[in-house]
Amino acid sequence: MPAAPDLINLGFLSDSERELILEVLRRDQELRMVEDQRVRKLKKELLEVKRKGAKRGSGNYSDRSCGRCQEPLSRLPVFSNQCKMCNHYVCRNCQTFLPNGSWLCSVCTQEM
Ligand SMILES: [Zn+2]
Ligand SMILES: [Zn+2]
Repeated sequence: MPAAPDLINLGFLSDSERELILEVLRRDQELRMVEDQRVRKLKKELLEVKRKGAKRGSGNYSDRSCGRCQEPLSRLPVFSNQCKMCNHYVCRNCQTFLPNGSWLCSVCTQEM
């Protein structure tokens, strides 16, 4: 009669071994909480970047400034500075290169 595989039976362990396992589980949970906070912080930063960088169709929208940090772009070549995903023109600092040689702006990279 095989034991149910999804039931962890700690009965055969000594007290110290049981302590050790519980300690590992505790630490695992702590790590997960830290990771959780990190993700939440990243999302907040992303929203912040979006809020600052989002351009409207009207107002002082310009192809000559970075769509993310508003840094003025050099006059040439504008075409190569256009993000393939959101179509914003972004400066070198806001371009993140991908392993395949292409690049996306800082916001689109985080959304992938
Ligand atoms: Zn920029
Ligand atoms: Zn983009």
